[in-house]
Amino acid sequence: MTSKVRTRFAPSPTGFLHIGGARTALFSWAFAKRHQGDFILRIEDTDVARSTPEAVQAILDGMQWLGLAHDEGPFYQMQRMPRYKEVIAQMLAAGTAYHCYTPADELEQMREAQRARGEKPRYDGRWRPEAGKPLPVAPEGVTPVVRFKNPAGGVTAWDDLVKGRIEFSNDELDDLIIARGDGTPTYNFCVVVDDWDMGITQVIRGDDHVNNTPRQINILKALGAPVPAYAHLSMILGDDGTKLSKRHGAVSVMQYDDDGYLPEAVINYLARLGWSHGDEEIFSREQFVEWFDLAHITPSAAQFNTEKLNWLNQHYIKHAADSRLAGEVASRLARRGVNPEAGPELESAVALYKERAVNLNELADALEPFVTEIRPSVELLAQHLNDAARAALKLLRGKLGALSSAQWQKAALSAAIKETCTEAGLKMPQVAIPLRVLLLAQPQSPAIDAVLEVLGRDRVLARLDHHL
Ligand code: GLU
Repeated sequence: MTSKVRTRFAPSPTGFLHIGGARTALFSWAFAKRHQGDFILRIEDTDVARSTPEAVQAILDGMQWLGLAHDEGPFYQMQRMPRYKEVIAQMLAAGTAYHCYTPADELEQMREAQRARGEKPRYDGRWRPEAGKPLPVAPEGVTPVVRFKNPAGGVTAWDDLVKGRIEFSNDELDDLIIARGDGTPTYNFCVVVDDWDMGITQVIRGDDHVNNTPRQINILKALGAPVPAYAHLSMILGDDGTKLSKRHGAVSVMQYDDDGYLPEAVINYLARLGWSHGDEEIFSREQFVEWFDLAHITPSAAQFNTEKLNWLNQHYIKHAADSRLAGEVASRLARRGVNPEAGPELESAVALYKERAVNLNELADALEPFVTEIRPSVELLAQHLNDAARAALKLLRGKLGALSSAQWQKAALSAAIKETCTEAGLKMPQVAIPLRVLLLAQPQSPAIDAVLEVLGRDRVLARLDHHL
């Protein structure tokens, strides 16, 4: 009988939830869901100088937008200080940790001397208690730090669920400071106590933490705590093959919302960023959870591909319900100061454009002329509204005016345009293009009869009359 799977996402609230963090969260979440386990959110806010409430909120917003709900938490490390201090006291009592009074300048001298001898700088263990070893006399007025008594000799190893076996020689690992002079616990120590207390069974995190892992394992062992399995995810590279950073544009998850991406497109995209299931490219969140496993995560770095994300976004927009897209467009238009209530039903206009929009902002751009007063530029008018076109549109205006609201339907509208072309001796585009310019201030659109239908009789006649 194996224990229930418990994973966690443990961001430090020092900035936005970025795309790499979101992928870590997604994989941790999916692994828990795949195994009917629990997903825990833990906010690692002990870096008081860099942690902000805004960043905490940005993380919570990003997780919510992505739909990655936690089963427990959020737990805040700053609220767990008494617990960390309690464990430190226990370790001091058990002799797995010890006080070290070496002042900063002495430590610096120690490192200087080591560097001068061509050695790797490290704490030399002068305060480390050993059987039969005399310790220095504690100096007056110095508050000691607490160091972990790392095992001497041997290796610390684990079978990383992504990277395979990883080994560190214990002699490479310093006796880590677990509490500073002022008593505050340090980063690696808090992670250990949390993973232990929260019963984490699989730690899934970025591979920038590989070097912390042997230290954390050794502390867990010293505490007699179970050691979780570890899965370290490789980093994400930008489109250009360099480490993903702000330079590459949208790296904050909420920026993708602003840029018009649907969360399911981002989820599907992130799922394939370093993980695969055969050749499957498009799959739902439910399908992903069913398929997800750590064995198919690639240990090499994954490269971001904006084109592919756009392709997925286009797919999801095409398949999203019109009502949902209309809501998205309405809020985007409202943010631009355009009142969508002033136009025809956005839903029917959405249906015309959703096949071609790559993102929701583009969809909003396309729909804006439907709900707001449009002003074709002088250049557009000069380019497309010549005398022949003007005469034909006047003819069309007469035919359209003769249609009642009840008759205002695609078939009748299409017939009116065709008749106009025949009578004016013009080809379809010679009428349709200037018509688009007058109605939408742009020379292209989906089928013109459908556009007329959606715009509605009053709006079409008014826009034509304004120019003819
Ligand atoms: N707080 C760490 C970070 O934001 C993650 C720690 C962990 O997952 O163990 O990178």
